[in-house]
Amino acid sequence: MPVDESKLTASERREALKEVFAQARGCTRCTELAATRKTVVFGSGNADADLMFVGEAPGASEDEQGIPFVGRAGKLLDQLLGEIGLSRPEVFVANVLKCHPPGNRDPLPVEIDNCQEYLHRQVELIQPNVICTLGNFSTKLLRGDPTGITRLHGQPEVLTLGRRAVRLYPIFHPAAALYTPRMLETLREDFTRLPELLALGAPEQPRSLEIPEAVEDVPEVAAAGAEGQASEIDQLGLF
Ligand code: URA
Repeated sequence: MPVDESKLTASERREALKEVFAQARGCTRCTELAATRKTVVFGSGNADADLMFVGEAPGASEDEQGIPFVGRAGKLLDQLLGEIGLSRPEVFVANVLKCHPPGNRDPLPVEIDNCQEYLHRQVELIQPNVICTLGNFSTKLLRGDPTGITRLHGQPEVLTLGRRAVRLYPIFHPAAALYTPRMLETLREDFTRLPELLALGAPEQPRSLEIPEAVEDVPEVAAAGAEGQASEIDQLGLF
């Protein structure tokens, strides 16, 4: 019987999220990424957050530290959050890929496919009201549609992901805005609309009888390994 996460307490969901993290830490589904990564960057922040951000993939700094968005793009994200009165420990930040693609190359379709179950489990367990997709990769993945961020940014829509209905809010990726002042202006404008979106609360949830089959369980993965992972405490301490 699939577990209905909406019936779990926040603390039970947090414990379940830690289990998914433990599975992800030993994941070897993408041979190249498993061989080249220093850490699995699962995500960080409040495991019961109303607002979740989904970026693309960890960069080199994130790979070193095991925490998403700690580099220049992350500093901009922190700044924009601060401007709307929020801080990182209040939100949850994750990526489409949990491993750093070597040379900062784009995620491959097969890697996105391999990794998406972790993201779906994160959404089911954190139960955010608003998911802010940062840039093209997360927007296309979660919408299941190739329409790009330039057309979609700043337009919220209600979407059902697994068993959770959320308000999806695509915005530009902060890394892109670092180098393009016009894009930064647009990103900042889109950010200012986040508080009113959050104030709407959760969208109407699918009724139990209409609940689709559970997203397939995260696959069996090798035991979390001795590959220089950032300690679990470092990442989960923020939860
Ligand atoms: N860019 C991303 O998409 N994710 C990170 O974690 C860092 C930079």
